[in-house]
Formats: sequence, C-alpha cells, structure tokens
Amino acid sequence: MQLEKEINKRRTFGIISHPDAGKTTLTEKLLLFGGAIQEAGAVKSNKIKKGATSDFMEIERQRGISVATSVLAFNYRDKKINILDTPGHKDFAEDTFRTLTAVDSVIVVIDVAKGVEEQTQKLVEVCRMRKIPMIVFINKLDREGKDAFDLLDEVEQKLELKVCPLSYPIGMGYDFKGIYNIWEKNINLFSGDNKKNIKDTIAFDDIESPELEKLIGSDEAEELRTDLELISEVYPDFDREAYIKGELQPVFFGSALNNFGVRELLDCFITIAPPPLPKKAEERAVTPTENTFSGFVFKIHANMDPKHRDRLAFIKIVSGTFERNKPYLHVRHQKNLKFSSPNAFFAEKKEIVDVSYAGDIVGLHDTGNFKIGDTLTEGEQLNFKGIPSFSPEHFRYINNADPMKSKQLEKGITQLMDEGVAQLFTLQLNNRKIIGTVGALQYEVIQYRLEHEYGAKCSYENFPVHKACWVEAEDPNNEEFAEFKRVKQKFLAHDKQGQLVFLADSAFSIQMAQQKYPTVKLHFVSEYK
Ligand code: GDP
Repeated sequence: MQLEKEINKRRTFGIISHPDAGKTTLTEKLLLFGGAIQEAGAVKSNKIKKGATSDFMEIERQRGISVATSVLAFNYRDKKINILDTPGHKDFAEDTFRTLTAVDSVIVVIDVAKGVEEQTQKLVEVCRMRKIPMIVFINKLDREGKDAFDLLDEVEQKLELKVCPLSYPIGMGYDFKGIYNIWEKNINLFSGDNKKNIKDTIAFDDIESPELEKLIGSDEAEELRTDLELISEVYPDFDREAYIKGELQPVFFGSALNNFGVRELLDCFITIAPPPLPKKAEERAVTPTENTFSGFVFKIHANMDPKHRDRLAFIKIVSGTFERNKPYLHVRHQKNLKFSSPNAFFAEKKEIVDVSYAGDIVGLHDTGNFKIGDTLTEGEQLNFKGIPSFSPEHFRYINNADPMKSKQLEKGITQLMDEGVAQLFTLQLNNRKIIGTVGALQYEVIQYRLEHEYGAKCSYENFPVHKACWVEAEDPNNEEFAEFKRVKQKFLAHDKQGQLVFLADSAFSIQMAQQKYPTVKLHFVSEYK
C-alpha cells in the first residue's frame, strides 16, 4: 500500500504558454509556496532573449539553463509536485511536444491583454488531441486587458475548449480590486503587495450579502453579482470527471508577478489534478500502481561539458518504482542496464536517489544507449506509444565537409537525432541525408556540436521542401501505390524509424497527390495509427 500512497501523492504537470505570458514567474511563485526556494529570481528563464547576444549563443545559454529547469519538484501540503519545463520559443516546440507525453496535466497561462497567442494555440491543440486535463490561468490582471467574458469566449473559440470559470476578477488594470473565488467561495482583495499575507481571504458564501458593498463599493458589487449570475447561467458547473477526461477546462484569474490568485490556483490544482495516469504501450495499457517498474525516455540532454560526451536521459516512471543499481531491460536493445547514480530533482537541484515512484522523473547518465521514446521495464516486452514527430519547417541536405572524419560525422548525426535535436530523412534514391528542423537556428547548433563534441565538420545545401508527410498505403501491393512511388521517387525518404515519408515541395503537390492517389494516405504526424 506504500506504493499506492506514494504514487497518489504525485502531481506531474507542465505549464504551457506563449513566451512572455508569465510561465517563469508563475513557476517561481509555485515554488515559493512549496518553500522550495526562498526568494524571487531563483528560477531562471529558459527563453531566448532577443538582441542580447547572437541567437546561437542564446541557444547554448538556454541549453545550460534547461538542465536546471527540466524538472522542478517540490512538496506542497501532502502532495509531491513535479513541474516539467516546456520551452515556449517556437524553435523548441518539438521539445515541448515531447514533454507533453510525460505530464499528467497542464496549466495554460494566458496574458490578459494579448489573449490567445500563436504558441498557446499550437500547444493546446496537442494537449486537446491527447485529452490532457488542462487548467487555464489568465495572468497579468494588474494590467489593462480584455474584458473577462470576451477572453473566456476567445479561449473557447480559438482553443476549442469548454471553459468553466472557477474564479472571477473584480475590476481590471488600474481598477483591479481583487478576485472572487467561485471554487472556494471567498474574496481576495488586491493590494499590489506581493508579500501580503496570503491568508487575507474573506470567506464569502453569500454573494447577496450587503457586506459586499462595503468591501468593494456598490457599483462593483452590483457588477460582480450580475457577472456571477451570468457565469452560472452560461457556463457549466465544475465536473471533475469531465476535467480529467479533457472535456472541461477550469479557468482562474490572477497576477503571477504580484503573487495574486496563485495560491487559489495551486490549492485547486492539488485537489482536482490527476495523480499519475495509466499509459498505453503498444502491447497494453500500464497502470501506475502495478508493482513492476516501467518507464520511457522523453528527453535527452547533452552535457554542457564537450569533453565528456555523457548525456542525461529523462525517464518518466509510468509504473512501480525505479531503484538504484537494479537491472532494467532496455527493450529496444534487449539488454539489461543498471544505473548507479540516478538523479531525482528537487527545486532547481538534482540529487542521487535510491527509489523513485511512478509519476516521478529520473535523470539517467547515458553514453549513447538511449533515444527518445525508448522503454525500460523489469523484463516485460513493452513499448510505450505516443512520441510523435511533426513535419519540420526547414529542410537541408547535410554534407560531410571533412572526408577524414566521416565516421565521427555519422556517429554525431545519429546521437544528435536520438536526442531529438532535429529529424533525419534519408532519400530513397541516393541515400543522401536531409536534416529537418523546426527553427533555422538548429542548423547552427548541429554544426557547432558536431565540430566540438564529435570532431566532425558539415556543410548544408538547400533542399526545398514544403512539408514532410508520412505515407500510409491502404494497400501496399496495389498499382496506385506502385505508381505513387515511381512518380514521386525523387521526393521519397525514410525517417529514422524507417517509415516512408513524402517530402512535398508545395502545398499544391500534396493536394494533387491526395487527389491522384486516394488510397495513399498522407499524414502530417508520424504517429497516425
Ligand atoms: P514567460 O516567457 O512565459 O516565462 O514569461 P515571464 O514569466 O518571463 O514573464 C514575462 C514578463 O511579464 C516579465 O517581465 C514578468 O515580470 C511579466 N509578468 C509576469 N506576470 C505578470 C503579472 O502578473 N503582471 C505584470 N504586470 N507583469 C507580469
């Protein structure tokens, strides 16, 4: 029962947002509540700073920080909370998508003035597809922003969510007076002082009470009553099951910078957010409380020290416990591995631990055994599903610029791709290699790291591709598929898993191919089954 108790204590989630919405600030305030850090400024922002230095140096800086912020764990009340870092910058979107396979729920941060922004939209779409439970936090209420109802509408429409406000702002910007907490039925008045005692909430069961006028003024009281009535008419009541199924999204308002509305968010979060959830493997669904260990790699981080090519593989524990020095089966290699110094994370530090539980993340030192998506078990043949690739935005041929170092280049490319830095496609026609990335910056990173970590040199050559489409033939033996392969042979490649990919040069050619070869299905995500 100890196992069940430990697992049920865990809440593993990610905070997603468009850059600048307040993710870092909110993370920091959550850690302050957990007593994991003592002062503001301790959580480093992992975002790419504009203009300060060259973008490339920024990426290197970011790489350093992102080890420190990969997992931020702390205890709050009787819960163990693991926050997984999700880069907001679009060039790292793939990292974030992968991290989303390891969370049990997410908090979406939205800037009250900017509303739903592009990155938020993309990330929420992925969460929606995977039915991840989401809570929305509308931030920066101390600033002038959009009307609360307009924002709730925007969230419903642009993010295709079904919202359920659990708190509601009283005024906004200059006139921001505080928040009515629908969930706890109390009022918290805003003083602009982020050190204010957070116990200063006023219980307020009866919104009709004349006390409300005294607290916030008569016009405001009237307005709040009308708004709350409207909310109860328009929006559904909170239903935890619907939230856990990803069908209903509670909304909170606040100001992370002023530490306002954050405690309400956290208290509700630990009450409603799901403990570790079962996860599907190709073979079966795995339940967290099973006695035997299983887990999968969702992130690999190369060490900052170029002289030591060791890496840290981040494993999400799906079931059971992970123990130090116990042999586990690396399913893809069919090989047993032992780990003498698994890292667990606490606040912004990592430390060696003997036992970790389902829901937790462990960091394992790796010299090249792992790639993203690998499964570890106590012997069972399991392969966890759910780390899809999306079509990259940029495509270039990669050429060997130093023929004496072709082995090193080969090894470097393989390892960097295992890490998930970019995607590799090998053209069917001539075996030439094409690197696909989400952001153009990754090409510089790859070139630099190949040289500094592997002693290899590369150059790039443009290859005009609009999108990579994963090909699925309804009937691999029919004439239509044979013709498709013949006509498109110059544009066909294999990805690292050996799946067939059509590198289409325009949206038009995708459309034409779809019309001409209806039994050949083109997918924009690698995992379509
Ligand atoms: P991230 O890119 O999402 O991690 O955003 P940050 O947490 O770094 O915040 C971006 C900027 O918004 C910073 O200058 C923060 O100080 C500011 N910010 C965050 N929360 C609030 C808030 O509640 N009110 C105001 N006025 N500014 C905020």
